[in-house]
Amino acid sequence: MTSRSRHGVHLSRDYDYDAVVCGAGVAGLAAARGLGGLGLRVLVLDKQHTPRDVAKGEVLQPGALRVLRRWGTEEALRRRGAVGLDRLVVRSDRGAPLMTLDYGQLPEGDRKLLAHEHLAILHTLAQDLPPTVELRRGTLVREALREDDGRVGGVLLTSQDTRAAAAEAVEVRAPLVVAADGISSRLRRAAGIEGQRVEYPHRLVSLELTPPGPLPHDFSAYLTDRGLRLVYPLPGGRVRLYLQTEPDELRGLTADGFADWLARAVREVPALDGLVPALPEAVGSKQTFAVGRYLADRLAAPGLALVGEAAYAVHPMAAQGMNTAITSAASLAEQIARALDGSAPGDGGARLGAAAADAALRAYEEERRPTLVQAAKTSANAARMVTDLAWPGRVVGRRAVRCTGANARLLHTVTHNMAGLGPRPLTPLDRLQQIGLLPDPRAHRVPTA
Ligand SMILES: Cc1cc2nc3c(=O)[nH]c(=O)nc-3n(C[C@H](O)[C@H](O)[C@H](O)COP(=O)(O)OP(=O)(O)OC[C@H]3O[C@@H](n4cnc5c(N)ncnc54)[C@H](O)[C@@H]3O)c2cc1C
Repeated sequence: MTSRSRHGVHLSRDYDYDAVVCGAGVAGLAAARGLGGLGLRVLVLDKQHTPRDVAKGEVLQPGALRVLRRWGTEEALRRRGAVGLDRLVVRSDRGAPLMTLDYGQLPEGDRKLLAHEHLAILHTLAQDLPPTVELRRGTLVREALREDDGRVGGVLLTSQDTRAAAAEAVEVRAPLVVAADGISSRLRRAAGIEGQRVEYPHRLVSLELTPPGPLPHDFSAYLTDRGLRLVYPLPGGRVRLYLQTEPDELRGLTADGFADWLARAVREVPALDGLVPALPEAVGSKQTFAVGRYLADRLAAPGLALVGEAAYAVHPMAAQGMNTAITSAASLAEQIARALDGSAPGDGGARLGAAAADAALRAYEEERRPTLVQAAKTSANAARMVTDLAWPGRVVGRRAVRCTGANARLLHTVTHNMAGLGPRPLTPLDRLQQIGLLPDPRAHRVPTA
């Protein structure tokens, strides 16, 4: 079957690859790893020549680690010095634990979070790609190609290399296109998939410090009157610090002005005293992030799958984004594996045909969507509990932190959900108990699994 593409080139179903993945962030690399693991020929494209050193996505949850363990990536990250964390703790500004999500109560193998720099996670995923995967950096995906029936059947790309012959557009055909091109996904927009994006009314400033004393062993979120302060260890004796700021709080500050602001902000939190000596050297590592949440209305269209932030983004404080990106990529690969099982091979040497890809995409949507909807709720609630500075939100949030922290049953459910081990939705009754409006006679009954 052939059709005329918008660029005057005949598109045929003798595909160039089984799958084209747009984006080599965590989501795209995980999708490529999963699909390549099935023996599929996969082309991964990223517009950046080299991945940027951005302080985002450093803490991996047990749900993602289950997948990375199967791929050998968890072991590789540990060999590169990744740090294991035992718990996620919400604390007062003096360091007193108000709510402790103790991962030690989870099933064996799921009892740790793992922290490493984002760049190290990207490099480790990229270095583990199967031989049937080709990774091409410095290549911009300009648009999706459509087949006669409207399904996506490939991409149009150009090299970002200015020396390349006038950056000529090239068509690459595949029965499966994976949009892993981040929150502003061009492929998602081209497919007409909408979604609701909500911006949080604050920003996060990130710093990397090397404090002189002992490192923290957990992921700690300190509640202060000026917002969240997040701290966790990184390899090499370093610590990541995030500070919540008003959107314009740092606008126009000189480097010295920022150094003063930082010193004040950290000194206001007695529990962070140990970080103060490391602040002057850390000033240069400052990065600032706008934060929002997003959930696409659909995760797939014929020929096209969305993974990672193209489909789903949440507030960073819950450390959920990479988790769902990796588990979604693994789920997509599982559905493709099922569809391949017993299906006729695709044309032109590609193993995957359009019909099998579309069957898998429907199953992916059905399997994944409820999980993402639930994960979005969990993350949004958790973020509101610890970042809302308006007084009603702050009062309810602090109450929820304390009541959940004192309720072993709810703590277990919240820990399980945060760990990304499968959704266990809180009931309306749980929610009332969580903010202390109803007593919980089962508060000490911890589920055994
Ligand atoms: C401050 C911060 C801290 C965070 N901390 C955590 C954490 O601790 N744990 C956690 O799980 N998550 C965390 N997250 C979320 C996590 O970073 C994201 O969920 C994850 O990185 C998303 O990966 P992605 O591959 O979907 O998107 P991206 O990382 O945005 O990757 C998209 C890729 O697509 C490429 N691309 C885009 N358009 C095109 C195109 N047209 N052609 C070719 N290439 C294209 C881009 O160059 C990019 O490489 C954090 C986020 C932030 C902002």
